Amino acid sequence: MVINTVPFTLPGFTITETRQEEARLIIEASSTATSAICPNCQQVSRHSHGWYPRRPQDLPCIGEGVYLELTVRRFRCLNPECPKKTFAERFPDWLPTYARRTTRLTKVLRRVGFEVSAESGRRILRWFAITISGDTLLRIVKRTPVVPTRTPRVVGIDDWALRKGQRYGSLILDQETRQVVELLKGRTAEDVQPWFQAHTEVEIVTRDRSPEYRNALTATAPQAQQVLDRWHLLLNLRHLAEHVIASVYRRLKKLPMPFELQSSRPRFLRSLREQQRMDASRQRRLDLYHEVQRLKQLGLNPSQMLQQLPHSYYTLRLFYHAPEFPERMPGRTLRSKLEPYLDYLESRFQAGCQSVSQLHKEIQTQGYPGTPTLVSNWLQARRLLAYADPASVDTLPITATSSSLPSAHKLAWLLVLAPEKLTDHDAAMLCHIRQDEAIHHFYDLAQEFRGLLQARSTERLDDWLETAAHSTLPKVRTFTRGLRAEYAFLRAALEHEWSNGQTEGQITRLKFIKRQMYGRASFELLRQKVLYHPGST
Ligand SMILES: [Zn+2]
Repeated sequence: MVINTVPFTLPGFTITETRQEEARLIIEASSTATSAICPNCQQVSRHSHGWYPRRPQDLPCIGEGVYLELTVRRFRCLNPECPKKTFAERFPDWLPTYARRTTRLTKVLRRVGFEVSAESGRRILRWFAITISGDTLLRIVKRTPVVPTRTPRVVGIDDWALRKGQRYGSLILDQETRQVVELLKGRTAEDVQPWFQAHTEVEIVTRDRSPEYRNALTATAPQAQQVLDRWHLLLNLRHLAEHVIASVYRRLKKLPMPFELQSSRPRFLRSLREQQRMDASRQRRLDLYHEVQRLKQLGLNPSQMLQQLPHSYYTLRLFYHAPEFPERMPGRTLRSKLEPYLDYLESRFQAGCQSVSQLHKEIQTQGYPGTPTLVSNWLQARRLLAYADPASVDTLPITATSSSLPSAHKLAWLLVLAPEKLTDHDAAMLCHIRQDEAIHHFYDLAQEFRGLLQARSTERLDDWLETAAHSTLPKVRTFTRGLRAEYAFLRAALEHEWSNGQTEGQITRLKFIKRQMYGRASFELLRQKVLYHPGST
């Protein structure tokens, strides 16, 4: 079928015919140029030397794939000095030499290729009548230049996990443009030094408290002001809070829980298999602890142990420094399989359903993977509770395995967050644990630390360090000593507006991209995708 008129033009060409062939729209056109510039000697030539065809793919039109059938000229170069005897017309604006696609089509493919995985991209593009292989899409992504031309002045550096808990990388962000400028393998001083050696123009670096980054920067970027990241400092504080709570957790558990804070949910015994899993998990940690201690005797540090032990650096470091085996934080036990369905079960119980097989069937359709045994245990416990006197709940055997006091991990946030951000329940819980003298003392310190970070007040910092250095809590004193060792960087954190908030955002984006590639992407492809910025190409 021949279509006579088309609602568009191809500049420099006369459209001679438009026809439909299978599911494609073919647009035939001939070049109208009468002269061209020799790409070698830049001289104009008007001497035609015949024609040759090009058949590039273009953007689709009215739901059909479009192919151009172009007849372009070949010219003769008359310059006797020029080694090029003939040359073809060029269209740098929209059809690069030898390209099989127009620039506007490549642009769309690139956007899709950076947005989703190559395979999803191929499928999505097919709906829009663009036929392209996943490999071609990947090639377009890999060939896109992504290294920024601007030299960054203020950067943020942070680490991210390539394989969770095993292999890490570092991300460097230009704080002023908010664009990722480099993704590096590893996060040791050796890994990041070459980049800083090559970028002596960097004036300010925001970082977390990793000694590796500190050493690398001090050695290779002495001109740069190091600034501790305020958000990481808050995380350090939260971590400290968790340790402080853990050290008095037994005492906190003994405080009589006010009735309004008591959980109305029955706790239930774990199945034998769940108990076995927990025991096995503890044994694995214990074995690892002994192994770390053995390697420590041989003179290895945690970074060197990473080569042999497939565990996270943080775990190795924790075990390395622990004088004895660190049990898991109290209250932080494996979740029961039943946990996501407890609210539902509770509502069904309230509605009068007490059949194990019925309840099991119902939650199975919602995705519960376990056996009816756990449901039966829960139901027994729930029935007991229903007929028990609330005051005696604590003495019931079903509550024996867990307390209604949240884990140290959860409680830590209550001490660190601003009071106005707490819910009524959390505020009541905070009030409850502050009955303990140590927690009461620590809470004031924690709140002042958060406050001075927010207010960016160096005077308050000096006062705080003075007070905290004399704290009755040894962990607080250790924390303060650590901060004092980095006093200049800590002070800079308050004096400079720069912080790692943007870096955190980019790491979230990196994780998203990694998930999209189902964790199978090579480091190079990941780097390409993370460094890409739609405005840049
Ligand atoms: Zn020439």
